[in-house]
Amino acid sequence: MECGKELPEGARFCPQCGAPVAMTEWEEFQVSADDLVKRVKELIKEGNIRRVVVRNEAGKNLLEIPVTFGVIGALLAPQLAALGAIAALATRCTIVVERAKKSGD
Ligand SMILES: [Zn+2]
Repeated sequence: MECGKELPEGARFCPQCGAPVAMTEWEEFQVSADDLVKRVKELIKEGNIRRVVVRNEAGKNLLEIPVTFGVIGALLAPQLAALGAIAALATRCTIVVERAKKSGD
């Protein structure tokens, strides 16, 4: 939470600072470097992704792409270039995505 206050279960807003509670969950995918760019594109097209993080085999974050409303459905050229650079160096990577939860979960 923004202010670090512990939230009552089911709270939608922080009672202390008023920040909205993130209704998201995280998912991980192991991919070969050859599939990295394709897989990230597919994930972003799904439309409910908020953030994409690419990690190497050692678990180090190599790239973080916040998916704002402006880039939903498509990657920007610098992001594609960064993914391509990772794919050229790595053999396997982990894609970690922050996904908006469907309401009712
Ligand atoms: Zn707060």
